[in-house]
Amino acid sequence: MNAFIPPFCPWKGCSEHHLSSSKHPYQAYLPWGSYPTKAFGRVPRFRCTSCGRTFSVQSFSLDYYAKRVVDYQDVSRRLSSCESLRAIGRNLGLSCDSVSNRISRASRQAIAAESRLAASRHPDEDLAADGFESFCVSQFFPNNIHLLVGQGSQFVYASNHVTLRRKGRMTKTQKRRRAELDERFRPTPRGLERGFSRIATEALRLLSDSSRASLQLWTDEKLEYRRALEGRPVFASLEAAGRFRHRRVSSRAARTRANPLYPVNYFDRELRKDLHEHVRETVCFGRNVNHQSERLVLYLFGHNYGKPFRIAGERRSHAEVAGYDTGAIGAELKRIWTRRSFLSLEELPEDQRDIWLRLRRTPLKEGKQYLPKYAAA
Ligand SMILES: [Zn+2]
Repeated sequence: MNAFIPPFCPWKGCSEHHLSSSKHPYQAYLPWGSYPTKAFGRVPRFRCTSCGRTFSVQSFSLDYYAKRVVDYQDVSRRLSSCESLRAIGRNLGLSCDSVSNRISRASRQAIAAESRLAASRHPDEDLAADGFESFCVSQFFPNNIHLLVGQGSQFVYASNHVTLRRKGRMTKTQKRRRAELDERFRPTPRGLERGFSRIATEALRLLSDSSRASLQLWTDEKLEYRRALEGRPVFASLEAAGRFRHRRVSSRAARTRANPLYPVNYFDRELRKDLHEHVRETVCFGRNVNHQSERLVLYLFGHNYGKPFRIAGERRSHAEVAGYDTGAIGAELKRIWTRRSFLSLEELPEDQRDIWLRLRRTPLKEGKQYLPKYAAA
């Protein structure tokens, strides 16, 4: 603990906060005593001589403000092995709120690590995208989780969550109930198209990062997908130049490995069996859209960087198969569960930023969702 050297000032308004690698190492601080804690022993403090504010070793720890040491990797593995939050709590001797708090912290770490790793990617594959159907709060609030998956690697490049209005066959009582709920919550109009437009943005971003001159995006025949793509001015010119091609296949086509949507179909199956809230007829369904999104982020991170591509055969992770640098992945995995990531130091896609800041709307919940101050730093 004593040998700890602060890498930068943790206060985001300070000139010593954004220290790029080219800038001088952080030296504008003084030791400023220490304080005792039950969980972490004596914690050294420092004072920044540039902004005059104090901080401690804990300011750089993922356990900032936490009162108990919990194994984040263990929580993440349990979550992704179909354990419910209550079961994780029981097994680790934690309350449900503590489990949820650790998952939120871990998900922000995963978002930051993913964005840093994406900065040096050079994908060399076509893409498939589709919506995974689930719900949050109640079956009256179905949602669509769009997924953008690498055709060869089954790496999930992006996801997006939209709440939809319940449709389909309903009894008279259910219709009355839906009418009551309509008064209290209305999903964003054209949600499917708007949600997919973010997936389209990510697909186009992948083209610019790609080592190929052109790529294909496979989807089913939903009109919303086409409209979302056509809504982006750059799409038409890329398509005309033969650099980006939108290809469609019927959603009724056999779900075999020969189906171009196989990567998303495969991932749907994994998600359905591994995350308890998405299991059919579960009683452990999500109650909050932001927390549901955080859990998905953590699951995706485990799928992309932790799981081997195939149980028998190819043992590299999905990320390695997608061409992500093995050394860079190793470096991120070494720090992910210890060194806290700061939002102010990350460049995140819009969707990931929304999840980090808990900006998504949960049906029937009024007002903004609480986010601890330290998480927004
Ligand atoms: Zn400072």
